[in-house]
Amino acid sequence: MLVIAFDADDTLWVNEPYFRESEETFAALFEDYLPMHQTQQELFKTEMDNLALYGYGVKGFMLSMIETAIRITGGNLSAEGTDRILEIGKELLERPIEILPHVETVLEALSTKYRLVVATKGDLLDQERKLKKSGLAKYFHHIEIMSDKKPEDYQKLIRHLDIAPEQFFMIGNSLKSDILPVLELGGHGVHIPFHTTWAHEMVSHPVEHVNFREIEQLDEVLSFL
Ligand SMILES: [Mg+2]
Repeated sequence: MLVIAFDADDTLWVNEPYFRESEETFAALFEDYLPMHQTQQELFKTEMDNLALYGYGVKGFMLSMIETAIRITGGNLSAEGTDRILEIGKELLERPIEILPHVETVLEALSTKYRLVVATKGDLLDQERKLKKSGLAKYFHHIEIMSDKKPEDYQKLIRHLDIAPEQFFMIGNSLKSDILPVLELGGHGVHIPFHTTWAHEMVSHPVEHVNFREIEQLDEVLSFL
């Protein structure tokens, strides 16, 4: 029996646009020091430097904002400024869940035929909260909050599910995290692009693979699954 795994952020629900908005709010706080786009670049640099230590998610993002603010203000970040940054992060954690089109129909249809799984990065508590708020948890047999989405991370998941890689379908918006590592293991990847992609998740080359498909709307999976 096939296992169909879904990425969560920007596959099941909206995520990246909220981060973009938070980055803009953050950059606007320090316009006296740097133009906004430069602050955003500085933040991205900090995030990349911290990724191996903090992992993915809002909390690491908050710490990276604080670190960036200290740097660009030349060490003059005030308590009030720090407080504003923490507020930006907390607002991000409290955003309502906006489920993407066709998600419910597709999960409903596929859950009668296959084992469905969520495979997502991010903060454990935050992803659990989003899943609960979304009302989608009932469709899934298993929720995997992963610290990263490298081939070895998927290998662990596939082993845990007790299936062969070719029985594993991954559906997600990131070629880099959701598709390429799964194809590498011999699984299937279904790419559903989202209009906003984090620079860290960008892949510049086209993907060609016999187990690879790209769709525009999620309900297209019902024609082959
Ligand atoms: Mg995603």
